[in-house]
Amino acid sequence: MSTSPTQRIALDARLRHLTVRTVTTLSSAMRRVELEGPDLDGFECFGPSDHAKVFFPAEPGGVPQLPELTDGRFTNRQDPRYVCRDYTVRTWDPAAGALVLDMATHAHGPAGRWAAAAEPGHTLGVYGPKTSKLPPMDRAWYLLVADETGLPALTNWLERLPAEARVLALAEVDDAAAQVPLPGGLPVTWLHRDGAAAGSTTLLADAVAALDLDTAAPGWVWAGAEARAVQAVRKVVTDRGIDRASCSMTGYWRRGTANFDHKSPEAQGADA
Ligand SMILES: Cc1cc2nc3c(=O)[nH]c(=O)nc-3n(C[C@H](O)[C@H](O)[C@H](O)COP(=O)(O)OP(=O)(O)OC[C@H]3O[C@@H](n4cnc5c(N)ncnc54)[C@H](O)[C@@H]3O)c2cc1C
Repeated sequence: MSTSPTQRIALDARLRHLTVRTVTTLSSAMRRVELEGPDLDGFECFGPSDHAKVFFPAEPGGVPQLPELTDGRFTNRQDPRYVCRDYTVRTWDPAAGALVLDMATHAHGPAGRWAAAAEPGHTLGVYGPKTSKLPPMDRAWYLLVADETGLPALTNWLERLPAEARVLALAEVDDAAAQVPLPGGLPVTWLHRDGAAAGSTTLLADAVAALDLDTAAPGWVWAGAEARAVQAVRKVVTDRGIDRASCSMTGYWRRGTANFDHKSPEAQGADA
């Protein structure tokens, strides 16, 4: 029996064909894409870091190739016919029929290029989320750590946490122009790479090491960022004596690796 304090809710994970309704530029490195379509009927999502597999065309403006599902499952993420990457559900508004993804723009991969060129009318496939994860919301403090790719989940966390919780949120981006506006002035400490390559710094781990954390009180650590940056944060958190059962840290991508698997031991921690 699982002893995880995170509650899991199984969802109806269908493959949905969706169309871009609007695109909004959030920062120099992030665009918000609002998706619509009749396939969103029945869509559900509740947890701050819930994510779906998104199927992209090989080049921006093209039509995504969507797989056949076997027993409601898509298994082969490495099948070269499909361009499939994971994205956090930033918001889902059933009344407006709008599913919102906040997507980092970069030139290195098909999803980053798609996000940079997205326009109303473009299409995507979305599979999942398969599971909603509801982490504990009753801890005395929360440490949230992200780069651009983790910012959607970090923002979801900030919107859901109770007002009485002590929240420490760290976000690494390139510079001030890459900071995204957060609802209601939610508190984030921005760390700037200042031109260094994304995923090449120890800014996040260094900032965690310098934090004043009451590790005797019950807390929770969440991280979503480049895999080696998360590994470095994981080491600092472990060294500070924070129990692994109070951590949810995932490498969301890996510098130099296409289609990185966030369920791999490297992404989850070597002893996962
Ligand atoms: C659970 C989960 C949730 C995620 N949520 C989001 C989200 O909400 N928004 C979001 O933007 N991303 C999110 N990501 C990250 C996203 O899936 C990856 O960045 C993905 O690799 C992008 O695919 P690509 O086709 O652009 O690049 P790939 O084809 O996967 O990689 C090609 C090259 O690009 C590099 N690369 C990949 N991502 C980046 C990046 N962000 N910056 C610079 N170089 C990069 C790779 O290292 C590689 O060298 C999430 C990942 C996971 C696992």
